[in-house]
Parts: sequence; structure tokens; C-alpha cells
Amino acid sequence: MRLIMLGPQGAGKGTQAQRLAATTGALHISTGDLVRAEIARGSALGQAVKGYNDRGELVPDTLIMQLVEPALTAPRHWILDGFPRDERQARILDAMLAGAHVQLDRVIVLDAPDDELITRLLGRRQSRSTGKVYNLVTDPPPADDPGPFVQRDDDTPADIARRLAIYHRATKPLEGYYAAQGLLQKIDARGPIDAVADDILRALRQPHGSRPTVL
Ligand code: AMP
Repeated sequence: MRLIMLGPQGAGKGTQAQRLAATTGALHISTGDLVRAEIARGSALGQAVKGYNDRGELVPDTLIMQLVEPALTAPRHWILDGFPRDERQARILDAMLAGAHVQLDRVIVLDAPDDELITRLLGRRQSRSTGKVYNLVTDPPPADDPGPFVQRDDDTPADIARRLAIYHRATKPLEGYYAAQGLLQKIDARGPIDAVADDILRALRQPHGSRPTVL
């Protein structure tokens, strides 16, 4: 299974991709996590992407490709979260997969209205000790995670607004791009985490378009 998880910030792509990876054994590739890890490592690439990340802007394609390409062309099943972000990246991905004789099976879109996304993003906290991501409202940290629980640098109201605007302008049109390839399935992401996870599994078990997904 090679799958793209598409959807706005706060729709639960990372959470659902992590769960699906645990269920299926596929590799969860989050370009946002790759960016943050590279920044934490302090490498030259990390320094080059830091400003974009901190401002909530997209990192240039050449830099993102350096981070994501090795994982994508490896002979493994994967769930891609945070890439592609626009049609240019989708075309780069198509060309790269075709070159590596790798087929994309499905694109799942997690859909939720902006006001819900903003509430979720403002409540998002990550544990510094375990790395797990929680939500103060919908998924509070359990007693056995010692924390501390911190906000991402780009989860401020101004940065959230900028990232959502980029999503609507650049990323959402990818729904049409992948629908035209017969790969797209839309899931309502407003429900509880478990219900959305069940909906995703149900969608994946149905043959879809011309390419049934093997789970
Ligand atoms: P995310 O965790 O997916 O919200 O990503 C955090 C930040 O990493 C984004 O605001 C961008 O600066 C950068 N980033 C992640 N994925 C991409 C991508 N596909 N293209 C460009 N920048 C990206």
C-alpha cells in the first residue's frame, strides 16, 4: 500500500497516518516531522529550512525533495503525510514514482471546516519527553506521560491562518488532480479519532477506482 494522506493542518493527518502505519506495517513519512528533525539536528539543510518552517511558509521543493526522496523510492509500503503540498510537488512525485516503478494506490482526504481546525491547532501540544502529540480539548495527555507539553513554534494564530490560506490556495486543488486519476477518497474528519480511523479502514478495504488497495 502506498498512500497519500491529504487534508488541512489540524485535520488529524499525522494521528491517523500513525495509526494506519501501526495497523498495516507501512512506513509513516511526515515531511513536517522530517523538517523539524533536520532543524533539531542543526545540519546545513536544517538551517536552510528553519526560517520557512518558523514562518509557516512552504520550504522550497529542492530542499523538501532532499528530505523525502530516499524514503519514497525505498522498496517499502508507505503513508505520506504533508507531501505533496501543491500541483508542482504532485507532478514531481508522479515523475519520481514512475522512474522508480512504484505505484501510488490511494489518496485519502481528511475534511473538516476551518473553525474546527483552528480550535484543534490552538489546543495541540507535544510532549517533550515522549514526542507524542495530544490535544487539550479532544485528546488530553494521559497521567503517565510526564511532559512537559509544548506548542509547536508555528501553532500561533497568525501562523495557523497563513498555513490554512496556503492549504486552500495551493493544496486543496490537489483533490481534483487525484480525483482525475481515480485515486481520491474523502473522509469526514470531524468525528472522534477512533471513528475517523474506522472510516479510513473501511474506505481502504473497498476496491476503489481501477486500483484496489491491498491491506
Ligand atoms: P506540517 O507539520 O506538515 O504542518 O509541516 C510543517 C512545516 O514544514 C510547513 O509549514 C513547511 O514549512 C514545511 N513543510 C512540510 N511539508 C512540506 C512540503 N511538502 N513542501 C514544503 N514545505 C513543507
